[in-house]
Amino acid sequence: MTNPAVENVVIIGSGPAGYTAAIYAGRANLKPIVFEGFQAGGLPGGQLMTTTEVENFPGFPEGITGPALMDNMKAQAERWGAQLYTEDVISVDLSQRPFTVRSPEREFKAHSIIIATGATAKRLGLPSEHQFWSRGISACAICDGATPLFHGADLAVIGAGDSAAEEAIYLTKYGSKVNLLVRTEKMRASKAMQDRVLSNPKIQVHWNTEALDIFGNGHMEGVKLRNNQTGEESLLHVKGLFYAIGHKPNTSLFQGQLELDDVGYIATKHGSVETSVEGVFAAGDVQDHEYRQAITAAGTGCMAAMLAERWLSATGLIQEFHQVTHTPDNELELQPEVQTATSTEFDLNATRHEGGYALRKLFHDSARLLIVKYVSPGCGPCHTLKPILNKVVDEFVGKIHFVEIDIDKDREIAENAGVMGTPTIQFFKDKELVTEVKGVKPKSEYRQLIESNL
Ligand SMILES: Cc1cc2nc3c(=O)[nH]c(=O)nc-3n(C[C@H](O)[C@H](O)[C@H](O)COP(=O)(O)OP(=O)(O)OC[C@H]3O[C@@H](n4cnc5c(N)ncnc54)[C@H](O)[C@@H]3O)c2cc1C
Repeated sequence: MTNPAVENVVIIGSGPAGYTAAIYAGRANLKPIVFEGFQAGGLPGGQLMTTTEVENFPGFPEGITGPALMDNMKAQAERWGAQLYTEDVISVDLSQRPFTVRSPEREFKAHSIIIATGATAKRLGLPSEHQFWSRGISACAICDGATPLFHGADLAVIGAGDSAAEEAIYLTKYGSKVNLLVRTEKMRASKAMQDRVLSNPKIQVHWNTEALDIFGNGHMEGVKLRNNQTGEESLLHVKGLFYAIGHKPNTSLFQGQLELDDVGYIATKHGSVETSVEGVFAAGDVQDHEYRQAITAAGTGCMAAMLAERWLSATGLIQEFHQVTHTPDNELELQPEVQTATSTEFDLNATRHEGGYALRKLFHDSARLLIVKYVSPGCGPCHTLKPILNKVVDEFVGKIHFVEIDIDKDREIAENAGVMGTPTIQFFKDKELVTEVKGVKPKSEYRQLIESNL
């Protein structure tokens, strides 16, 4: 769908940089368009959707969870009139003005663009990585750490920075032992994080150690290691391996159109967020390999919006939209009624349920298609999936049964169902598993799966 109007500014990305730019641009009456992203380059809400507590973002003396912080930023951007689309940008054309920004569903022309596409977790590229991905290997300890298979098991984390330290500490909640594999003889994590790792009796650090491959039979059984000082190879028996080896900037859309540095970050003018093309600004981790913090991303998002507004004014292109502040949609959204049943309260006619009791009852008594969603506490992708799936479930009220299982509370159920990470959705018909979907997919995919199994 092409929009004939030319927008003041399109913002690409919905991490702290993108939402902050949206708040400032909204308050400057620019009516910004925001592509929040969907699957390319991380999650809507950005990297903080994969973390638990954020302890260093000013204004939250007790800390705040990553997903809650991002929810607040989103609500604030909406309050100031930002138009959000949970879609990936698939191409941009910066060679002609106005610029063009496309997603699979729409196209916008814009006088200015703010790029806030952040960075994505790297993979190692081990020979058997693909085979064991989501069958033991994960890039998100917060999403997958609570998986029943990992309870009381030996686990491993690869990496040496703050993320690796945070993940290793978090996994000690579940695993009996966490092996931290560090390629050199020291960690890059902050001193405070290193102290927490080194003083944790459940964490063993393996210095100068590299992973060569994964071994297992169906599910991962361990990692083949090499000590890069002695050359000695060994097998480490672990059921889960978590990657925390850094990030790659999400700049492939801009290659050949904007100046990038030698490792692929967008080059910005010293002390500014201006890029090599006038009217195009870059904020957050996509242009910052030094600080990479939520607050610096938010700070540069603010700078980008202010510079965009100045540039639009100076070039006479600005179009102001005076606004009436409104309550964000997600505050108005009514939460669907959910049955957390015990034997006396269980209602077979209700569409939505939660917990193990309901699942057992429905599995035996339901004549409808049964959809089971497995989630875990603090899991960012589960948070992203919730409104997407809720809308689809609304379309099939009375025709399906939908149950949410928290794998941390209902471990035995998740274990019996073979759940290896969250979010996972299983579809059952006549007590048979029809299909399983992992991660977050577009609404159309869930809708189509339901329709074809009704
Ligand atoms: C596990 C973990 C813990 C962390 N903890 C902290 C902490 O405690 N404190 C702190 O200050 N920092 C922390 N950080 C770092 C912090 O998360 C980042 O510095 C910050 O999120 C960067 O913000 P950003 O807006 O630049 O990008 P990101 O947060 O990376 O967001 C990028 C956004 O761009 C979107 N996107 C990408 N490609 C496209 C596309 N093609 N189309 C549309 N959208 C797209 C993505 O969906 C995403 O919304 C942590 C990072 C991790 C991984």
